[in-house]
Amino acid sequence: MKRICLFILLLCLLFTGCVPQAPTVQEPEEAVQAADALQIHYIDVGQADSIFLRCGESTMLIDGGNVEDSDLVVSYLLEQEVTKLDLVVNTHAHEDHVGGLPGVLAVFEAGAVWCPVTEYSSSCFEDFARYADQQYLALVRPEPGTTYELGTAEVTVLGPVKDYDETNDTSIVLRVDHGANSFLFTGDAETAAEKDMLDYGMDVSATVLKVGHHGSDTSTCYQWLREVSPQYAVIQVGEGNTYDHPHETVLSRLRDAGVTVYRTDLQGHIICTSDGETVSFTTNKNAPVTNPTEKVEYFIGNKNSKKFHLPSCSGVPKLENQVPLMGYDLAVAFGYTPCSICLK
Ligand SMILES: [Zn+2]
Ligand SMILES: [Zn+2]
Repeated sequence: MKRICLFILLLCLLFTGCVPQAPTVQEPEEAVQAADALQIHYIDVGQADSIFLRCGESTMLIDGGNVEDSDLVVSYLLEQEVTKLDLVVNTHAHEDHVGGLPGVLAVFEAGAVWCPVTEYSSSCFEDFARYADQQYLALVRPEPGTTYELGTAEVTVLGPVKDYDETNDTSIVLRVDHGANSFLFTGDAETAAEKDMLDYGMDVSATVLKVGHHGSDTSTCYQWLREVSPQYAVIQVGEGNTYDHPHETVLSRLRDAGVTVYRTDLQGHIICTSDGETVSFTTNKNAPVTNPTEKVEYFIGNKNSKKFHLPSCSGVPKLENQVPLMGYDLAVAFGYTPCSICLK
């Protein structure tokens, strides 16, 4: 009997020893992944766009600058010890976005190529399509809402949500989320496309906005900027360009929205690093960044027309007809409608 009791006791001890315990050590793989920073290189290609992203081992290129920028982009990527690009995106078929990509595809193996169109009548686009084809890659137009894993970051397609005749509006618009930070890449999407994405209900909020169309006033409408609500903006623009980009309207809109602005014509290559919680910037030129004024939180209403304006708008009514309105939502709640010039 004594021996049986001892045997049961032993069995019990053995059994409790085998009960799986809750793991107390974090899986090493998870720890490594959480530490993966996201680096975004806004390459200074003058009056054009080219952006390189890396998160852990994953790499991505959005646009390749003009044809003449091809060597610069390729050597920039080689300096970064890039051997393969997992995803290459051509936002739209204009030369200042697709021009450098044939050279890139001639050197680097790509995993996938996204583009809003499969045909476009220009020699640089045809070269781009040919080099993609040489790698047996189809030009894929991603549907809005498509997601793509870039290491621990996630890429989401926000646009285009419609078909457009205007090539700029066909721009593929992407949001990249990395922990608490998000980054918006807009190509040259103009106000029509911006408004359509908002109407579609896309979440466009972002920590860092790549300003649409090199800072042209045909993009970055007030409503768009209000929804994106960025802390930082990057403008890819060439010094002394013939379009007068970036336009003063856009710069003042960014100032009023309390956004710190980096520009490739002033700061050169702009590198933004996200650790998932904060973002930091390094640049290869020392020009001071454009710091914002106080964020404008008040508007001026017209008690007769029931319209409301930014204080800087030319449409602000005479003093006797002015009503101060402390906040956009409040103005709307009081039955005022936004001015179609300053708050379009
Ligand atoms: Zn364009
Ligand atoms: Zn452009």
